[in-house]
Amino acid sequence: MLNRIEKEKLLGQKGLVIWMTGLSGAGKTTIGVALENHLHNDGVLTQLLDGDIIREGLNNNLGFSDDDRKENIRRIAETAKLFVNCGIITICCFVSPTNEIRNIAKKIIGEKDFIEVYINASLETCEKRDVKGLYAKARRGEIKDFTGIGSPYEIPLNPHLEIKTNEVTLEEGVKKIIDYISKHN
Ligand code: ADP
Repeated sequence: MLNRIEKEKLLGQKGLVIWMTGLSGAGKTTIGVALENHLHNDGVLTQLLDGDIIREGLNNNLGFSDDDRKENIRRIAETAKLFVNCGIITICCFVSPTNEIRNIAKKIIGEKDFIEVYINASLETCEKRDVKGLYAKARRGEIKDFTGIGSPYEIPLNPHLEIKTNEVTLEEGVKKIIDYISKHN
């Protein structure tokens, strides 16, 4: 079987996971999509893994109980690892609300390939944006266990990067990650 080094040599790049965590509406997907476009234009092969899409497909049999959230992350991390072993920059956009859950992902992917990015916007900001109308639903009691309302979000203890999306523009946020990747990779 061909190994990672041979694949990275073929692509001329190194595999890496950019793991974005934050409240719903903080900006993970928006930044992930812009980051992917930026890297693609620079000739870098990427794969974006996004919560909503994964929950419709690979993980469509999982809910939001503690066990299901852990299984959700386990499968996502194993999937990300497959991409990384192909030399692909893998951008993961998941609320991943607890330190325990993020540690599961880090352990599976491996610390040296795991860049944790805290996409930080206050609950108030996210709720005002309410991109998908989910906060309104959660406030009406139609979604229980919604992160930030009925279920906790633990602030990352030691992220590699933090992007405050109500203080910096989308372009500035993306640049911060690009600069980090350039140094790291
Ligand atoms: P998440 O993926 O974290 O749930 P989304 O990316 O779906 O969040 O939504 C974030 C919303 O915040 C979008 O409507 C986006 O346009 C808006 N937004 C405002 N400022 C920023 C910023 N600096 N970076 C990213 N998103 C921003």
